[in-house]
Amino acid sequence: MRVNTLKRVAVAFALALPGAAIATVVAAPAAHADGCYTWNRTLTQGRSGEDVRQLQIRVAGWAAYRDIVRIDGRYGPETAAAVKRFQSAYGLRADGIAGPQTFAKIYELQDNDCTPKHFSYTELDNGCGTGGFSGGPLSASATRENAIRTMWKLEALRHGLGDKALPVSSGFRGTACNRQVDGASDSQHLYGDAADLTPRTVSLCQVARAARSHGFSGIFGPGYPDHSDQVHVDSRRENNRDKTSNTTYWSAPNCGVGNN
Ligand code: ZN
Repeated sequence: MRVNTLKRVAVAFALALPGAAIATVVAAPAAHADGCYTWNRTLTQGRSGEDVRQLQIRVAGWAAYRDIVRIDGRYGPETAAAVKRFQSAYGLRADGIAGPQTFAKIYELQDNDCTPKHFSYTELDNGCGTGGFSGGPLSASATRENAIRTMWKLEALRHGLGDKALPVSSGFRGTACNRQVDGASDSQHLYGDAADLTPRTVSLCQVARAARSHGFSGIFGPGYPDHSDQVHVDSRRENNRDKTSNTTYWSAPNCGVGNN
């Protein structure tokens, strides 16, 4: 990703500047350049705004057991608690205040296309081979944003498990694709909010159990029908789409994972 990152930064500068300046700019180090999003102030409880919302997306996977972080642009106790857990997971001073150290760690984890380091759009996009994020009930851009949120939670889950790879066998599924694979008609996969994980270096049960402390309100794994070879995780609770999905639903009976 490094080469790609520098190339993109160089191209962005080149487009903004007259030809003569290009050589100099390309040679200069890109100090705090971030191709996705840059925070310009320290954030703490009581703050609100787009910068808080962007932070929430990136720390939502550090919600405490059974908790979720609402992506509402308001820095409340849920956000502060998640920031604290993020900081402690990455060896930073855990004060729940998002300052330069916290943002530096996020930049380190973040690719220029806004996906976290260990996950990519191609892993999460339309599962039936057509690619992209269109063909579902939401717009492609809304679906893509949901996929980004899912990926940041997966990045947290991955780190929480000790940096174990979490291959995704199915992410977003458009309506036709979902039908093709016999997915539930109200599947969270339709919205870009779900991922099916097929880990090889940790057990399915370890993943299902850990997902409870990484912001996932939907978890299905071993013991749930058709989930003996995968763990499904989703974010049904914060999405508020309908009465049946707006709640925590965990079921991996063989792993001791249930709603209670
Ligand atoms: Zn699934």
